[in-house]
Amino acid sequence: MESLIQAAKHTLEKHYDKSRHTVAAAIRTKSGQVFTSVTLKAQKIDICSEWSAFVQAVMSGEEIEMGVAVHRDQEGAFDIYPPCGLCRELYITYAPEANIVINDTTAVPAKELLPYAWKRKI
Ligand SMILES: [Zn+2]
Repeated sequence: MESLIQAAKHTLEKHYDKSRHTVAAAIRTKSGQVFTSVTLKAQKIDICSEWSAFVQAVMSGEEIEMGVAVHRDQEGAFDIYPPCGLCRELYITYAPEANIVINDTTAVPAKELLPYAWKRKI
């Protein structure tokens, strides 16, 4: 878990921009590949950092094992960001068993982050 948090922090240090990139995500697959990304902010839309990392992980064809997102403030302090509702929905759809880091010491299965979730009928 700590190495994944560090990967997210490293990505955010590299790409930090106080108006656009203040959160970074790192997602690890079962083989150990780590995919990272930062939040994208435009005039009317914000794209969570998890989304881009998530797409990369899904496109790898591997099962997602763990995910984390970290926020950095303007003074350089980091804290863990639990996933927003949309990201929780992505996790339970694609990786319900993946462990999601919710604070410095805890990761929980994605399926526990969004109980009683709505499921699309196909
Ligand atoms: Zn989100």
